Amino acid sequence: METAWMDKIERVVISADEIARRVRDLGREIAADYRGGAGRDPRRRPLLVVGILKGAMPFMADLIRALDLAIEYDFMAVSSYGNGTSPGEVRILKDLDCAIGGRDVLLVEDIVDTGHTLHHLLAGLSARGPATLRVCTLLDKPHRREVEVTVDYVGFVLPENLFVVGYGLDYAEVYRNLPFVAILKPECIRDG
Ligand code: 5GP
Repeated sequence: METAWMDKIERVVISADEIARRVRDLGREIAADYRGGAGRDPRRRPLLVVGILKGAMPFMADLIRALDLAIEYDFMAVSSYGNGTSPGEVRILKDLDCAIGGRDVLLVEDIVDTGHTLHHLLAGLSARGPATLRVCTLLDKPHRREVEVTVDYVGFVLPENLFVVGYGLDYAEVYRNLPFVAILKPECIRDG
């Protein structure tokens, strides 16, 4: 494929086809879990799917269309300070539009790395009293975890310590629109 960014890509780690297949399977699994199963009260309001901006946007858009289930969706935006003086501090840039008390909530993340972002999000959202609160992430780096977090649905486990871009994930805000997950050439990471 000849595109403007192809010469910046070292290697495709997860192809668009692999992503599409996995999203379809995740959609089936999640829909089955929430479709009145697991003691779920059918009178309860629809599942609320919460996408964490900006990275989860492409994954979220595909995942919700793979859910054969009545849902509502909303977004949060957070910024993480991974390495600063307050490691793991998370600032909410955009909060939910709706209340989540008594509701089934599914957080959708692009990637779980050290776990700090998710840990803070889960603590904050649990305090609002949802009936259930689960997490679905496209990518997981379990070997990098610094805090323990429960991730209920995982698209792909990244086997090595890779910095990946594409399908929502950025480098300096670029590459989020790649239809696959890839590693950049080292010179592109240095030079932007
Ligand atoms: P945490 O370390 O708190 O679990 O993850 C914080 C954030 O680091 C993620 O939401 C994501 O924005 C970023 N991150 C972690 N690993 C990668 C990666 O491989 N590629 C990109 N683009 N971002 C990453």
